Amino acid sequence: MTFSSFIPPQRTLMGPGPSDIAPQVLAALSRPTVGHLDPTFGGMMEQLKQLLQFAFQTRNECTIAISAPGSAGMEACFVNLLQPGDSVVVCINGVFGQRMRENITRCGAKAVVVEDEWGRAVTPQKLEDALKQHPEAKFVAFVHAETSTGALSDAKTLCSIAKQYNCLTIVDTVTSLGGVEVNVDGWGIDAVYSGSQKCLSCVPGLSPVSFSPAAVDVIKNRKVPVQSWFLDQSLVMTYWSGKGKRSYHHTAPVNSLYALHEALLMLYKEGLQQSWQRHLTQHQKLVAGLDELGIDFVVPESERIPQLNAVNIPQGLDDASVRRSLLDEFNLEIGAGLGPFAGKTWRIGLMGYAARNENIALCLAALKQVLS
Ligand code: PLP
Repeated sequence: MTFSSFIPPQRTLMGPGPSDIAPQVLAALSRPTVGHLDPTFGGMMEQLKQLLQFAFQTRNECTIAISAPGSAGMEACFVNLLQPGDSVVVCINGVFGQRMRENITRCGAKAVVVEDEWGRAVTPQKLEDALKQHPEAKFVAFVHAETSTGALSDAKTLCSIAKQYNCLTIVDTVTSLGGVEVNVDGWGIDAVYSGSQKCLSCVPGLSPVSFSPAAVDVIKNRKVPVQSWFLDQSLVMTYWSGKGKRSYHHTAPVNSLYALHEALLMLYKEGLQQSWQRHLTQHQKLVAGLDELGIDFVVPESERIPQLNAVNIPQGLDDASVRRSLLDEFNLEIGAGLGPFAGKTWRIGLMGYAARNENIALCLAALKQVLS
């Protein structure tokens, strides 16, 4: 066997993530590596924390990026907050709500499931009914933007219902952060996680998380230690906490954190509202173009995630061969359906740097040619 360097093709990434990465973020990644306890790196981490607070719209002190993908952010929220025997109402309307339930039961907690149809938002009334029936519930968990189906739930309303029943909220914003409004403090989110590879358009493998003071209190007053050493926030914070006090926890992915810093800087310079508006405008352009091709959407208009467009595959077309042609002939990646949607839907991402006119034009032209 002979070995050679891996030179990847130059794809346009319009699937459910990872999304296209801006050249300046890739450039940041290739800057010289410094030690993860280097004082200059500590300064960068302080800025990174503040930029994450900006993106999440929070003042939470405990706001960091976990050195692992979105699933680790999810796991960090559950393992830190839940203790065996706790009761959690979990809203499930797709794959990632199911993954939340799996985390809950693995923590030895009880999952009270509120189910909604795949392709629809979580129904607030169903959550309220479940909370009435389960006064013992301590937490409410749900996915803001369900990437598996393209449905966006009303996080503000769901959190306010949870608060009426004295529950802490755990919210997945992996696909929503940067693409649509996420207001951690304004909506009363207690534990939130996201991913670097979606609307932040950074390299995959990092998970921004934030815990409210109430969530930090729960973590501090646990009766049993967090079962995961790596994800235990009280230990991780010794590395992320203020200047001069940082001590070794694990070796941070130094260059990936440069990239996240650069990606968040781009978001900061663009502005949150402007970024949400860009995603919405590009979504509307895509909708108009797909309509001309006779391709319709899975999710009703008022419940759609602008940056993740789940569409019905036109009858008679072979899912895999169309996606393969897009990849081979146009270097364009779109996503397949997941679970019950496999073979029936495509997921077209317009996330972060991918939410641009050039991408929409390429995607529509390529689909037109492949479908003709
Ligand atoms: N939650 C949602 C809504 C997601 O879309 C994803 C990934 O696509 C995850 C969690 C898991 O993130 P990761 O694949 O980075 O572990």
